[in-house]
Amino acid sequence: MTPALAVDGLTVGYAGAPVLDDLRLEVAPGEVVALLGANGAGKTTLLRAASGLTPPRAGRVLLDGADLTALSVEDRARRGLAQVPEGRSVVTELTVDENLHLGALWCHPGRAARRAAVARTYDLFEPLARRRTSLGHQLSGGERQMLALGRALLARPRVLLLDEPSLGLAPRVVAQLMGVLRTTARETGLTVLLAEQNVTSALSIADRGVVLSLGAVVADAPAAELAGDPTLRHAYLGF
Ligand code: ATP
Repeated sequence: MTPALAVDGLTVGYAGAPVLDDLRLEVAPGEVVALLGANGAGKTTLLRAASGLTPPRAGRVLLDGADLTALSVEDRARRGLAQVPEGRSVVTELTVDENLHLGALWCHPGRAARRAAVARTYDLFEPLARRRTSLGHQLSGGERQMLALGRALLARPRVLLLDEPSLGLAPRVVAQLMGVLRTTARETGLTVLLAEQNVTSALSIADRGVVLSLGAVVADAPAAELAGDPTLRHAYLGF
């Protein structure tokens, strides 16, 4: 089967030695992959190279077999490769409702379709429904992360890249976010590459875990196997 997302021979560096060296990774359609590893392992760099934010020195990024390496961030997003960056990008001067309608603009033509799509997002993220008239900057960290994810999903991506969505959030909110990702992947076939320091949460919803260390893949196994492997956990995951 053609992978939904593939990076092949990816080499990325800022100055000096490469941060990622000849990296190869494939994610199958509808698969949720947890990208794990200590601080500085190269997780963010991999996501940024995949989405086009950081140009690689060598290698290719493929979406459903099509080579996107030469395309801009925007063109990759238009093809269905979307990144929700660390830091919860929402438009802080707009309300929750306006942010969501913006997210629905391209993929849900017509006001009725947009309204229905936004209503489904409120069903998925109930706390957002109570905050629909609040401005982005008035939201809590958890609400912002929900909004960023809800907005990204409204653009109907084929592959979603997520960088540390659980950062700074209460365990209850993390569980809710992870639950929505799992449900969406199962129901819509969304493919997810999820970089996380919160190993337990990420593995609890992932099909597979990939561990990076010093820019190389050191483990690639079913999530349940990784979660139950004490040697790996001690060596690379810090628990
Ligand atoms: P974290 O969880 O802390 O974000 P990470 O696994 O995502 O870690 P990266 O952020 O990809 O790791 O960083 C990998 C390496 O690249 C680190 O050594 C980091 O210092 C370096 N690095 C990252 N961004 C830059 C940059 N813009 N310029 C120079 N070096 C960078």
